[in-house]
Amino acid sequence: MTLSFPRPPIDSERSEALRIAFAERFGPGAPRAHFAPGRANLMGAHLDYNGGPVMPMAVDRGTWVAVRRRTDRRVRMASTVEEGEVEWSLDALPDAPSGRWFDYPLGVLRAVLTRPGELPGLDVLFGGDLPIGAGLSSSASICVGTAHALTAAAGGELEPDEGVELALAAERGFVGVQCGIMDPYAVAHSRPGHLLWLDCKDRSVDHVPLDATQVTVAVADSLVRRELAQGAFNERVAQCAEAFELLRLHVPAATCLRDVPLGVVRAHLSELEPAVGRRALHVAGEVARTFEARDALVRGDVAAFGSAMLASHESLREQYEVSTDELDCLVDAAASVDGVLGSRLTGAGFGGCTVVLLRAGAEDDLRAALEQRYAARFGRTPTVAFYRGDPGPRELD
Ligand code: ADP
Ligand code: MG
Repeated sequence: MTLSFPRPPIDSERSEALRIAFAERFGPGAPRAHFAPGRANLMGAHLDYNGGPVMPMAVDRGTWVAVRRRTDRRVRMASTVEEGEVEWSLDALPDAPSGRWFDYPLGVLRAVLTRPGELPGLDVLFGGDLPIGAGLSSSASICVGTAHALTAAAGGELEPDEGVELALAAERGFVGVQCGIMDPYAVAHSRPGHLLWLDCKDRSVDHVPLDATQVTVAVADSLVRRELAQGAFNERVAQCAEAFELLRLHVPAATCLRDVPLGVVRAHLSELEPAVGRRALHVAGEVARTFEARDALVRGDVAAFGSAMLASHESLREQYEVSTDELDCLVDAAASVDGVLGSRLTGAGFGGCTVVLLRAGAEDDLRAALEQRYAARFGRTPTVAFYRGDPGPRELD
């Protein structure tokens, strides 16, 4: 192991750091500490809202949640990574989001309170070792982590699907982000040494082994944050809906764009607006690629899986038009490195990060190539980090 690939934090260290920070913030009296991972999506880009399959991996960095019960119906929340402590009465919780970080855990709290269990008051401190707003879904991580911690504080236990529902209730229902279902599934259903296979049409879940002794997952951050990304994202969602309205006439059994085969999209391309046709080409192609990538991984063919990632990126660049020069540079630089199997933008695009699948041992070469090529072209150094799989939401001790 090299210095550029530091040992992932271990739970006892997370727990210890969180307990010290909790005592400093809220005084003596031990809290219960929980952890939920973030995620990187390796295949199935922009498919969750089209009912397609996705293949994310929960990563070994995430959100820490320390909770101590109170008896006076007060709730206090603070974070070691975001500014601003808040305090409310459980009987007068805000019923609208404020635009601040605590909207996410507040949304979860409101949803948890509708379930059985008893919560007479809480002190909650959040921490974490996941980059925020970088495409690794710190939002799903904090939501699922909070759902686990608050449910435990109320004397209950949480099934993975319940964690998904509470996270979606918070992020979609309270914060008001029209996020897909992939992120909370990836966080709540994770299994170490596996990618999650989630079919977003029927929500069926499977786990596909990814041997961490053979391959490593890296994430490179372009450091570009696009202000207009939400509008461009919503436009893609609307274009896919438009494509489906027309193409469904040719596939009577189809219930979502994922059900329209690539051949049908190609045959009826002239009936679609050019941009709408390109979006449909990406979705149909990506659905087929993601099934093929899963089969390759099941066979142990990580090289074929990597090739599917590169094809995915090309489609995101040419057909879905969500890449940027910066992301293309990172993908091209990664692809030039011996031992790199595949790379593509991850998350929605328009900035943010790329994900790389590489053979174990190629980490230093990858970092050097990404830093050099990116700095030569854009004059700044991208952040490159390496991740392993994670066992999923749990109490720390
Ligand atoms: P991403 O999910 O890609 O990281 P989002 O913008 O969807 O980015 O969610 C990031 C938001 O989640 C932050 O702005 C903050 O409100 C909240 N958040 C995530 N982790 C934490 C944390 N440890 N402490 C406080 N807030 C957090
Ligand atoms: Mg998010």
